[in-house]
Amino acid sequence: MCESTIPTAYCSLCPRHCSVNRSYGEMGFCRSLDLPKVSLVSTHMWEEPPISGTNGSGTVFFANCNLRCVFCQNHDISDSGYGLEIPIERLAEIFLEQQAKGLNNLNLVSPTQYGIQVREALILAKNNGLTLPVVYNTNGYEFVDFLQSLEGLVDVYLPDFKYMSCDLAGEYSGASDYPEKVKLAILEMKRQQPKDVFVDGLLKKGIIVRHLVLPNHYKDSLQILDWIVENLGTEAYVSLLNQYTPMHKAKEIPALSRRLTTFEYQKVTTHFLDIGLKNGFIQKRSSATSDYTPIFDLTGVANCKNRCDEEENSI
Ligand code: SF4
Repeated sequence: MCESTIPTAYCSLCPRHCSVNRSYGEMGFCRSLDLPKVSLVSTHMWEEPPISGTNGSGTVFFANCNLRCVFCQNHDISDSGYGLEIPIERLAEIFLEQQAKGLNNLNLVSPTQYGIQVREALILAKNNGLTLPVVYNTNGYEFVDFLQSLEGLVDVYLPDFKYMSCDLAGEYSGASDYPEKVKLAILEMKRQQPKDVFVDGLLKKGIIVRHLVLPNHYKDSLQILDWIVENLGTEAYVSLLNQYTPMHKAKEIPALSRRLTTFEYQKVTTHFLDIGLKNGFIQKRSSATSDYTPIFDLTGVANCKNRCDEEENSI
């Protein structure tokens, strides 16, 4: 049986180290309080093929974010914080409900700001029969000490590597130490899951590093690929996202106010091959649309029994 831990009073869950007491209503950069806030529970068909497969990935989207990038396509939940606060017990139930749907995995999307609560819920769900592979789908701005506490609970890491440049990280995410922190985080993820294990084309254990190529900054992307080869090797799985669309505050930032050109994306995919990377995923240009952004409407979040009671009462 897995053992539970007690959450810390002063939040130091991520590299922001805000030291606020979330239990007493104090908010740090991510504006999250003690209870996990969830925006949508859904079946996602548009993750990388070994994650979504044909049955889909069991996504749980968390509200708020410890990075809040100016171009975030999920800004309704990451910046505006739309979601419903639920007890840890309900979160564990949601995990088991995703498993009951026959999906390929449990996909925790932007869980970092609720890391301790998510960990507690995973332990509870595993003690109650959760066996689905657990995917930790993160922006990569993680505190290594916390990641170490997830060892044995997470099967697949799906981290972003957003910027190599401290200047870009500071300008677009207010986190100039992001490059340093994401490198340490990815190395810890690789330590926990050193081998990528596929069964029938689905990733059961391992790591896929995601990178969203930004307009006017493809040279930063080249440096990220170089780091991956030097530190994870040419067998590493890399997902190069071509779906950048100016959204949120990016519309007002000249360098980010247009879509990516074919030239820019090809520069990155050509470099991918030139430096010997063998495994990866590329996206068609038609992916650059807001159509792929889920509708965050709290589906699946509330306790079914309570919801059904409410519906009966309203008839
Ligand atoms: S999780 Fe939120 S409150 Fe905690 S350190 Fe990170 S940004 Fe600050």
